[in-house]
Amino acid sequence: MPSLSSYHSFHLDTNCSSVLNIEDVEQLTAAVASNSQFYLLGEGSNTIFLEDFFGTVIVNRIAGIQMRESSAYYHLRVGAGENWHQLVSTALNNGWYGMENLALIPGSVGASPIQNIGAYGLEVGNFIESVEIIDLIDGASKILTYQECLFGYRDSVFKNELAGRVVVTHVNFVLPKKNTLVTSYGELARLSAPSPRKIFDEVIRIRQEKLPDPNVTGNAGSFFKNPVIAAHAYQTLQVSHPSIPGFKIDNENVKVPAAWLIDQCGFKGRRVGDVSCHPNQPLVLTNQGKARGEDVVALAREIMNEVLNTFDITLEPEVRLVGKEGLITL
Ligand SMILES: Cc1cc2nc3c(=O)[nH]c(=O)nc-3n(C[C@H](O)[C@H](O)[C@H](O)COP(=O)(O)OP(=O)(O)OC[C@H]3O[C@@H](n4cnc5c(N)ncnc54)[C@H](O)[C@@H]3O)c2cc1C
Repeated sequence: MPSLSSYHSFHLDTNCSSVLNIEDVEQLTAAVASNSQFYLLGEGSNTIFLEDFFGTVIVNRIAGIQMRESSAYYHLRVGAGENWHQLVSTALNNGWYGMENLALIPGSVGASPIQNIGAYGLEVGNFIESVEIIDLIDGASKILTYQECLFGYRDSVFKNELAGRVVVTHVNFVLPKKNTLVTSYGELARLSAPSPRKIFDEVIRIRQEKLPDPNVTGNAGSFFKNPVIAAHAYQTLQVSHPSIPGFKIDNENVKVPAAWLIDQCGFKGRRVGDVSCHPNQPLVLTNQGKARGEDVVALAREIMNEVLNTFDITLEPEVRLVGKEGLITL
């Protein structure tokens, strides 16, 4: 059984029945048709294989970046297997600006619309014109428009109605030639005379300073999503916890930073086996060497239970957890 350690950024020492690297749509269609149990993988930076997976891991390596221009926009058609950061970097070097805030997010282009990756005030959905897919039910190639993707916070149609039903083969991006810089978020607000290059460099600097490098210390980025709670529940919590931070989503909903909730429950640096809650970024769980899937689950459940007991808030994993037969929930 091939090891999956190098196929996911948490680097658990688990195996699968076989690994298939596919490089074009024909290979992909054949791989899907000939394997009854499979898991679609990009670069494994949002996936943890908790135990041996009794199926085939199909790694999407469809490559290629094509650009065409219209009067006001650059239009990019990008293969799902391209590396996300490389795309941002290539776009910047060619003067196709806009995506710099999303620099250094690990992973593949094909996975970017799945959870609508986001950072520093922007989400990939801001730049997506359409997504090319293969529908696994009827084998047909289809194009989903931006509207049909139903992008939300770390969410899209691919995680809901179409979960497990489609393979992304290409993503079509649209970048306005008259680009607006987004520098309102966090440290970017301190940039003087901001430019796309300065934003790109600063985002890289901040991310390298704050987040553990998965090539050095296994991790999958934010383990939990920031919970969105009802505004009236938030007001009630403000009475018992006056310093609770919250960001208004609309009149009915408030987003609460999961890192703050976890920190308040005293989890910074907490360890179960070789799985540790990061001492500075409590939203990140890390593999300290020989972590096991059951330790990941144990620590994650401990955090979820404590946050529920203390704040009456249910945390939901952002990371995809894979067991023997496929995706599992905690
Ligand atoms: C250090 C670190 C920092 C991170 N920071 C951020 C951040 O700032 N913002 C953010 O949004 N995310 C962040 N993440 C999460 C991660 O980078 C993104 O979720 C990324 O899009 C995952 O890409 P991937 O190719 O590695 O996905 P994978 O883990 O390979 O797959 C993720 C999901 O997408 C599915 N999938 C993958 N490719 C396809 C395809 N072609 N067709 C259909 N389904 C597919 C998989 O089945 C799985 O369900 C971070 C992760 C790490 C490790």
